[in-house]
Amino acid sequence: MIPVIRKKSAFRGLHLRENKFTASKPIEILPFPSKATVALQQSLGAPCKFIVERGNIVKTGQKIADSGNYVSAPIHSPVSGKIARITKLVNPSTSALMDAVIIESDGEDHWIEMEKKFDICNSGDYKKLKGIIDSLTDEVILALIRESGIVGLGGATFPTHVKLKPPPGKKIDIVILNGCECEPFITSDHRIMLEYGKQVLAGLYIISRILSPGEIYIAIEDNKRDAIEYISSLMEQMGFTDKYKVVSLPSRYPMGAEKSLIKTIVNRTVPMGGLPLDVGTVVNNVATAKAVYEAVIEGKPLVEKVVTVTGGFENPKNFLVRIGTPIIELIGLCGLREAKECRVIMGGPMMGNILVDTDFPVIKATNCILIMDGRESIEKNCINCGRCIRACPMNLMPLEYVRNVKKGNYGACRDYYIENCIECGSCAYVCPANIPIVGYIKTGKSMLPKK
Ligand code: SF4
Ligand code: SF4
Repeated sequence: MIPVIRKKSAFRGLHLRENKFTASKPIEILPFPSKATVALQQSLGAPCKFIVERGNIVKTGQKIADSGNYVSAPIHSPVSGKIARITKLVNPSTSALMDAVIIESDGEDHWIEMEKKFDICNSGDYKKLKGIIDSLTDEVILALIRESGIVGLGGATFPTHVKLKPPPGKKIDIVILNGCECEPFITSDHRIMLEYGKQVLAGLYIISRILSPGEIYIAIEDNKRDAIEYISSLMEQMGFTDKYKVVSLPSRYPMGAEKSLIKTIVNRTVPMGGLPLDVGTVVNNVATAKAVYEAVIEGKPLVEKVVTVTGGFENPKNFLVRIGTPIIELIGLCGLREAKECRVIMGGPMMGNILVDTDFPVIKATNCILIMDGRESIEKNCINCGRCIRACPMNLMPLEYVRNVKKGNYGACRDYYIENCIECGSCAYVCPANIPIVGYIKTGKSMLPKK
């Protein structure tokens, strides 16, 4: 087995109760839904427009929305059937209305034609797989990734083909594969590494082929020993030993945030307002690497996600589920425990968004559905204790955002680098006055005057 590098955390961070109840639960493949609701806004970048109309017949994997802009990712039908109607949904992260299409499944799941170049489940000929990848040009790989609608699946949803093509003059010499999954409760990435490790490593090989970095790190927190061991042994089996290294990191929140990860692994500091590529680094999540493999080698668009359904359930689980599946269907499969009041959160307890409507569907960004106790804590006045400042991994001053947003001084938030906030929620977690600081930050960001 190849050696594992151990690193100490480069930031203070929080020790959170893990509550990873589903870590040993294998991924269950859910049947496609009878009705899929596909949201139009599923990634950062230019908004897409529907290219189908009511009454159209579509196949599974068929493109149904796109934009002429390079910085965008198309959207595909997760089922075969008929476009029943166009509707509106409330976007849980922005609370704004967005368009969506409802597709009635024909019960058949007819897929578009896909060109499978290699069968990783049934062939151990990894030399052949690398040969196939090496024979493809960068343009072909990037086009396949774009056309398949691949976006950052760690939550950022930035179009992956754009991330893999740095602007002229920016050389990437370090690639990091992010398998940290530092938020409590969520285990989807953990299970992906254990059950789709080959696809993840092949996806990483594709990413590295394009960027040609000098060093490649696979970052996993030390609370996932089985994933560290499995990925290390697979790397040897697949011949990924020269510049690929597995790094075991202390389980500390938010280790999985790109900037924390880069500082911890390669001791580079992303400048205020800057991006990882400003320090020659690109970070991709393990679920994204799997999706890149499927797009490039199997011709498969992004129409399904691994989602952890956990919290107040009798039987929390991990599912492989079609995008567009109503969240209420997932909740129904895990045996909701009786509770007077509860909150449904899409995402983890630190960075997730509260869902007001459980008919809302799984989208590309969904990695967890969490049921939490619904009691609201009462917001008190700030006592200037400074705990939020000490907890912030980005060295920001969260209390200033609260102060300035309350006064309507949105411009002043920029003076305190609000755009550098990664909305990790560490400040709100430690605040003794129960101030929902991230809510103020989101408002502050949305109200920032144009530059
Ligand atoms: S200010 Fe932003 S980055 Fe800092 S702790 Fe709060 S949410 Fe996290
Ligand atoms: S932790 Fe809360 S109470 Fe303390 S300074 Fe920050 S905002 Fe104020």
